[in-house]
Amino acid sequence: MKLYIRKVKHQCLLVVLLAVFLLAAPSSDAVDGKTPRWQAPVTGPLSVAREFEKPEQKWSPGHRGVDLIMQENFNVRSPEAGVITFSGTVVDRKVMTIEHPDGHKSSFEPVTDTLPVGTEVQAGQIIAQLDQEVAHCQPAACLHWGVRQGPDDYVNPLLFLGLADPSVLLPIGDDFAA
Ligand SMILES: [Zn+2]
Repeated sequence: MKLYIRKVKHQCLLVVLLAVFLLAAPSSDAVDGKTPRWQAPVTGPLSVAREFEKPEQKWSPGHRGVDLIMQENFNVRSPEAGVITFSGTVVDRKVMTIEHPDGHKSSFEPVTDTLPVGTEVQAGQIIAQLDQEVAHCQPAACLHWGVRQGPDDYVNPLLFLGLADPSVLLPIGDDFAA
């Protein structure tokens, strides 16, 4: 048991160091102590299937968001207050975008049952359902969440969840997303 605990501690430390490194990297997203604190758009334990990978150029490959695994339910919740500014099909899946009061934009895909464009939403409000017919991280069901701070300037959404703060690197339970 003691060995197990020690191992878990090491893993936690590794995650903390990784988060600190990501934040300290020169190519980080210029998000500083003023980063607003939002809530996760999914309920249940936060599980990242694929991390954010900032593209070198706006046309470069990368991963312009994080993929959050959804297991318990498929409600997509607004991470922060805002207005729905886009809801439509892009190539082969439905995407919705919310503009937040500070100018950041959150995008979600693949979604269905979306609230209409123009709807004002509150943080934590259900805005859509995950479209399980569209595979984004097969075989897992996951929600892709992207955050932009300009027309094409994507930032790591996890920064808005305060994951740079070691005190919240512990597993996030149901009460977090109440
Ligand atoms: Zn993705």
